[in-house]
Amino acid sequence: GFKVGIVGLPNVGKSTLFNALTKTAAAQAANFPFCTIEPNVGEVAVPDARLDTLAGIAGSKQIIPARMTFVDIAGLVKGASKGEGLGNQFLANIREVDAIAHVLRCFEDDDVTHVEGRVDPVEDADTIETELMLADLESIEKRLQNIVRKVRGGDKEAVQQERLMKEAKAMLEEGKPARMVEVSEDDAKAWKGLQLLTSKPVLYVCNVDEGEAATGNALSDKVAQMAAEQGAGQVVISAKIEEEISQLDADEAQMFLEELGLHEAGLDRLIRAGYDLLGLETYFTVGPKEARAWTIRRGTRAPQAAGVIHGDFERGFIRAETIAYDDFVSLGGEQAAKDAGKMRVEGKGYEVKDGDVLHFLFNA
Ligand code: GDP
Repeated sequence: GFKVGIVGLPNVGKSTLFNALTKTAAAQAANFPFCTIEPNVGEVAVPDARLDTLAGIAGSKQIIPARMTFVDIAGLVKGASKGEGLGNQFLANIREVDAIAHVLRCFEDDDVTHVEGRVDPVEDADTIETELMLADLESIEKRLQNIVRKVRGGDKEAVQQERLMKEAKAMLEEGKPARMVEVSEDDAKAWKGLQLLTSKPVLYVCNVDEGEAATGNALSDKVAQMAAEQGAGQVVISAKIEEEISQLDADEAQMFLEELGLHEAGLDRLIRAGYDLLGLETYFTVGPKEARAWTIRRGTRAPQAAGVIHGDFERGFIRAETIAYDDFVSLGGEQAAKDAGKMRVEGKGYEVKDGDVLHFLFNA
């Protein structure tokens, strides 16, 4: 599954958010209730109303949403790259995630201490990012030395790695994160293999006070501007509200949200922003037994999409019977879509589309 790491300075609201995320009714109601893998790792159901619609049409007994993993990576402080705070261990945790949700304090509260004694989310973002950039620079220097011999020997892979590391290094030395390097499609795999901390997609999560959840505030506006400049994502949420919502059942939660002028929980927006950021899409499998959502990267072809369900599906892939979501819903189900000629038979080259309802045929 896909993993998002929650980072941020101490006292910005990370734990509040993480707890809310993993206790929310949506996560509980799912057939994958939040399960504690470790105290700081939680799995949440990805909210998707389309899945309920499909299940309703097909009369599916079970609804199984897609899942996303969140990791609460506490302990990142100024000097982490030099081993301050919980330093290296936390940098290692970040290395393992697919994306970073960076929580920024955008609320004023004299009762909550700020580690720097002032509330400035843009500066805070810079503090954390600087640590990550320093860690990247250090690891690049080391690895550049380690591959010198291979590069001299003409090892193609090493030559490519060296070139990419030098590009990353130049960017970092300008004080910019590695994700701002433009990487060609040919280099994408090797680039990912470098596992640079600052090459991971970042979503800034502006934690605002309860009254400002619907509108944001001057601080979150500043973050939005920074995010736009960096090609990062941004969402405004109030961790406190989310915490309260997580105690309510679904109906109560909806009423509470409407009262606050919000239409959906911030967590839903957060998860969806995570999807967008990671370039993720959903396809469905629908039958009388279960309706289930599966997560793929945008542009995934049918056999690899099948492989998300099971490796055998990918290896023995024959074809995918495909119905677009809109056809399935407007025509009223699989048989009706088939009768109307809307079930397509797609082969190995087919790029799965968001919302496709798929049925795979494969050689066992
Ligand atoms: P962490 O250190 O980043 O995990 O931060 P916590 O989640 O433990 O939050 C630190 C303190 O800030 C706690 O006392 C929270 O109740 C408080 N807090 C979190 N979010 C908000 C908020 O939106 N407004 C206010 N006023 N306090 C908040």
